[in-house]
Amino acid sequence: MANINNLNSLSQIIKDEIDRVEHKIDTSSVGQVVSVGDCIATIYGLEEAMYGELIVFPGPSYGMVMNIEENSIGVALFGNDTNIKEGDLCQRTKEVVSIPVGDALLGRVINAIGTPIDGLGKIETTTTRPVELQAPQIMDRDKVNEPLETGIKAIDSMIPIGKGQRELIIGDRQTGKTAIAIDTIINQKDKNVYCVYCAIGQKNSSIAQIMNKLKQHDALKYTCIVNSSASEPSPMQYIAPYSAVSIAEYWMHQGKDVLIVYDDLSKHAVAYRTLLLLLRRSPGREAYPGDIFYLHSRLLERACKLSKELGGGSITALPIVETQAGDISAYIPTNIISITDGQLFLNTDLFNIGQRPAIDSNLSVSRVGSSAQTKIMKEVSKNLRMQLASYHEMLDFSRFGSDLDKSTQKILNHGAILLEVLKQKQYMPLKMSQEIIDIYAVQSGLLDDVNANSVHHILKLLDNAIRTHHNYIYEHIENDKKFTDEDKNEINELINTIKKNIDEEDLTKYGG
Ligand code: ATP
Ligand code: MG
Repeated sequence: MANINNLNSLSQIIKDEIDRVEHKIDTSSVGQVVSVGDCIATIYGLEEAMYGELIVFPGPSYGMVMNIEENSIGVALFGNDTNIKEGDLCQRTKEVVSIPVGDALLGRVINAIGTPIDGLGKIETTTTRPVELQAPQIMDRDKVNEPLETGIKAIDSMIPIGKGQRELIIGDRQTGKTAIAIDTIINQKDKNVYCVYCAIGQKNSSIAQIMNKLKQHDALKYTCIVNSSASEPSPMQYIAPYSAVSIAEYWMHQGKDVLIVYDDLSKHAVAYRTLLLLLRRSPGREAYPGDIFYLHSRLLERACKLSKELGGGSITALPIVETQAGDISAYIPTNIISITDGQLFLNTDLFNIGQRPAIDSNLSVSRVGSSAQTKIMKEVSKNLRMQLASYHEMLDFSRFGSDLDKSTQKILNHGAILLEVLKQKQYMPLKMSQEIIDIYAVQSGLLDDVNANSVHHILKLLDNAIRTHHNYIYEHIENDKKFTDEDKNEINELINTIKKNIDEEDLTKYGG
């Protein structure tokens, strides 16, 4: 049946072609479907269609031009392809695919083409923005010079992120990648930063969970979720991050700071590979299309800090990439590492021994963020990475079982306490001032002789003590951006008192 249909439509096309030659029928803006399947339609006609242009089919349903050949064009369809039949007519719109943008999107969940999927009704905005736009030029950009606080101690102290930076979160599956991104979104509360969370190829149930968590922490009101789940066709997954960044860009051009998370770009690369194989484009390395690098670079280039003349807004991007068995030298990971300004590498072994967030301080780097780090944080966290590196080195030695000299033992004790302090639970981002106190406490060396199990308890008591009787210390750090020697002495005294006062019960409870 399909074949007969095919033949019929083909013979019709041949007739049309003869007609066109004889009567010059205009096929530049109207085309006819030759074949359709797997969310790809091949169209005869539409000779003047542009790459990326929106095409309307009866229904109406929509598609985007992805392939331009001599006698036909290939259109990727958004949504169900069963409504479109061979022989159907379709039309050019002379516009590229656009998405609704604006403040009405805050607190909403939409799909890749801007249709709300949260059951909360229509999105009240008339402003739209094309999904593909050129990234701002060099002259339009400014230096990254303001910190974007993640609220995660290990990141803000060792691998700081700045507004306008692109920092990759990379690691194997189930190592806490999404958790870092979600905590960072939660930490933007009352900081005047808008957030866009773009989920690509994930389960709808995980997105529902993330939405609930954001709602619980009062973070959904400044966040927009763009979801293109694993069950959606590849064209939708392909376009989702571009739609998401267009939404972010609109805010950036209004002078706002925006944080965007792409979760995750490995699935995006796979969706693009599927799409282009269906379009019969020749595959390259690992069967990915040749332009896969360009695909991600043109996306991530759109994140930047705009110059003062253009309003000074910014987009900070946290793309996520999944590795297989920690292999960061695979094709897609190396591509994206080279496009971003640094990476947070999450280590499966650390995650499994309970060191969470499992940030590997050796392989993680932030290339521009340290210039945006606050002075106090820079001062207290100066040697953290070095200390961790020597700790791991000494730990390897100590496994040989020989007697350890005093200085080695000191490095080992300090490293173990430091690692303990850097552990942090999910959904509990900290204020910058509290992070500074925690790091100061461990760097003062006063915790080196306590049992690692009681460290968090001591830090909690310290926080309580400062909050109730010495809140001026937090105020100095937050408002005056100062951390004086008197403040430090006060903290030293508090720590000593807490250490003395931890009673017998506490000692047995925490194994001290
Ligand atoms: P996937 O590869 O499936 O996307 P992922 O790398 O994004 O996984 P998450 O989903 O963020 O990982 O986290 C995996 C599990 O680890 C979750 O159950 C999460 O609750 C837990 N987890 C993540 N971070 C922490 C943390 N800091 N403390 C305790 N548990 C955590
Ligand atoms: Mg995840």
